[in-house]
Amino acid sequence: MEDYVVKAYAYDGTVRMYAASTTRLVEDARRIHDLWPTSAAALGRTLTAVAIMGTTYPAGDELTIRFESDGDLGGMIVTTKCDGYVRGTLGNPHVLMQKPDGKLDVGGAVGKGFLHVTKDLKVRDIFTSTSEIVTGEIGDDFAYYFAQSEQIPSVVALGVKVGEDNAVMHAGGIILQAMPGCKEETIATIEARASAMANVTTLLEDRKTPEDLIAVLADENARILERKPLGYRCDCSKETFERGLIALGNEELRSLLEEQGTIETTCHFCQAIWRFTEVDVRRLMKQSKEKGSAS
Ligand SMILES: [Zn+2]
Repeated sequence: MEDYVVKAYAYDGTVRMYAASTTRLVEDARRIHDLWPTSAAALGRTLTAVAIMGTTYPAGDELTIRFESDGDLGGMIVTTKCDGYVRGTLGNPHVLMQKPDGKLDVGGAVGKGFLHVTKDLKVRDIFTSTSEIVTGEIGDDFAYYFAQSEQIPSVVALGVKVGEDNAVMHAGGIILQAMPGCKEETIATIEARASAMANVTTLLEDRKTPEDLIAVLADENARILERKPLGYRCDCSKETFERGLIALGNEELRSLLEEQGTIETTCHFCQAIWRFTEVDVRRLMKQSKEKGSAS
């Protein structure tokens, strides 16, 4: 099944609902970063939340979500250009932590710290809001962020199920947001349904689609507005890394060149290796010099 998100309005338009399947997206991330199960669950849940969040902004805007935390995972960064595609990276891809009941201990691996959300909405300035990490289980942390920083009461349910061979079997998520005018009784109904609902991954395992997930929590008059494909994609290029190399300065570039003959840079989001030959580096050094003398 292709990954996609469905957007719907329910309860007389007072509740905005999003449901997504992200199995392939998270499996792509797992293969790129060689993620072990707890790392896969943490990054996969975050990728899912950010992919959904991105669809609430116009395509071209940029969101960067950063977990700055003290657990074994070593923090995470996920970015999107709000076009359905996400990419992410994390400090330690090889975390396997389990709770006594055998479930993956995502909260323990993430640890304590802060969730930073940076929005580049292009027409306005870039701004960052920060909220505390509540449990490190990711869903709770996003719900707390929406409530604290955006004043939107939200339910966030995210899930990643990893198989015996570490491959991602199911991944997906649901985000519900109460709009102004949402009645107390509607919120109570949703909370009751959400707590009675099976895990997202159990529902996906039962071959439920994102539309089915919406139906579990919505009233019968829910309207599906949009369906959008989701995926994992990095848009890095050699030029992206040229800027970073120029910023190192000519002295540093010269010594790297002397040591190695060529310079290799690796993208943290897709593990692509970009090679810069001596000719490339000399060209960058010339640009750097011009830039230096211009300022
Ligand atoms: Zn890349």
